[in-house]
Amino acid sequence: MELFVLIKLRCPKCKKEFSMNIKKFVPTGSLSCFGCGTVTPFDEDKARKVQDEVRDLERQIDDIQERFY
Ligand SMILES: [Zn+2]
Repeated sequence: MELFVLIKLRCPKCKKEFSMNIKKFVPTGSLSCFGCGTVTPFDEDKARKVQDEVRDLERQIDDIQERFY
């Protein structure tokens, strides 16, 4: 099961808020602000941890899904 969750991120410069698919919060990624153009690289360790947790959640959802077959 592919998890689809929107997370909210805020531009550190202009404080504009963005919704982003949590799957795009990857260690090599960054937030490009449409408002002021500031590019903010994601925290690598944080992004890696988030993606690990997303995978765990997907596995749990798969387990739940199995019960319906
Ligand atoms: Zn901005």
